[in-house]
Amino acid sequence: MHRITIACGDGIGPEIMEATLRILDAAGVPLTYDEIAIGESVYLAGERSGIAPESWDTIRRNRVLLKAPITTPQGGGYKSLNVTMRKALNLYANVRPCRSLAPFVKTRHPQLDVVIIRENEEDLYAGIEHQQTAEVVQCLKLISRPGCEKIVRYAFEYARQQGRKKVTCLTKDNIMKQTDGLFHKIFREIAPEYPEIKAEHQIIDIGSARLADTPEDFDVVVVPNLYGDIVSDIVAQITGSVGLAGSANIGTQCAMFEAIHGSAPDIAGQGIANPSGLLQAAIQMLDHLGETEVAATIQNAWLATIEKGIHTADIYNPEISSQRVGTYAFAEAVIAHL
Ligand code: NAD
Repeated sequence: MHRITIACGDGIGPEIMEATLRILDAAGVPLTYDEIAIGESVYLAGERSGIAPESWDTIRRNRVLLKAPITTPQGGGYKSLNVTMRKALNLYANVRPCRSLAPFVKTRHPQLDVVIIRENEEDLYAGIEHQQTAEVVQCLKLISRPGCEKIVRYAFEYARQQGRKKVTCLTKDNIMKQTDGLFHKIFREIAPEYPEIKAEHQIIDIGSARLADTPEDFDVVVVPNLYGDIVSDIVAQITGSVGLAGSANIGTQCAMFEAIHGSAPDIAGQGIANPSGLLQAAIQMLDHLGETEVAATIQNAWLATIEKGIHTADIYNPEISSQRVGTYAFAEAVIAHL
């Protein structure tokens, strides 16, 4: 029996968490969980960080957190709890697999099968941002040799374990010669240790344009933090919906699993959100916990549901879908296919 921590988050978070947990329960996953509150409700109750101190103890004790999205105020308000959690728990690798489900989900990129491996603790997301003068603000881009080595090695090890053929590094080292330059330099240093895997580098602007246009030319992509955040949303969206992809945030002590999308306040409380992103994250979590058999069973049931055309609104298309369902009906359909 595994004991994990769960956090239902904000917006569509509680709905997609409930749907996901129903599927895990029905599949007989040997799991118990401690629930913690994080995000807006905690902030509004007076905890300025969005998380109570004792919740950190629960996360650290259980070591595995399944987390629904949380709302982060834009342009002000409290600091991103997502960023804080990734840093505080040393979750250095963010693994975001994106795969097309053509012909069952409409996409212009039927061959898309890309894993974005995003550095998760450094870069412009290190949170070193301040007012210089009345008219100038500054954000520091922090890149370290140990940080680059950890993520680049993780990407190659991941490619080796998963039998993937190529790792592409994306940086802007023609302009940011020191910071992105270091990331690229370390990529060049480590790549020869993996001779069976093709290694290539592209400048981020043309690289992301090609990712959006011909994603089938990419396999594993390793990127600094901010670029990874952006390109993984692009790649997930062009599979059919940003609501389809999950992610693993991996550290040496703890791991956190979440959908790649946000709290979707525009559709919250309507029971129409696609729970697939969080379910995919939960499947990554089960693999991490060594529960590979039940992970595969759930994955197959999920695929069968999608293949039958049972689709939530974000991927519904009258030409290929058979039923347009809400969050819980989708979960029930997955359960029926277990
Ligand atoms: P978002 O990902 O929440 O939503 C973008 C669009 O995709 C919206 O139209 C939304 O309805 C749709 N969408 C997202 N998930 C969906 C799903 N599961 N099913 C169907 N449609 C879905 O991005 P946003 O609107 O820019 O951000 C909203 C909030 O989420 C912000 O406060 C942001 O900071 C936060 N956020 C949190 C996380 C996280 O907790 N890891 C990640 C990204 C954004």
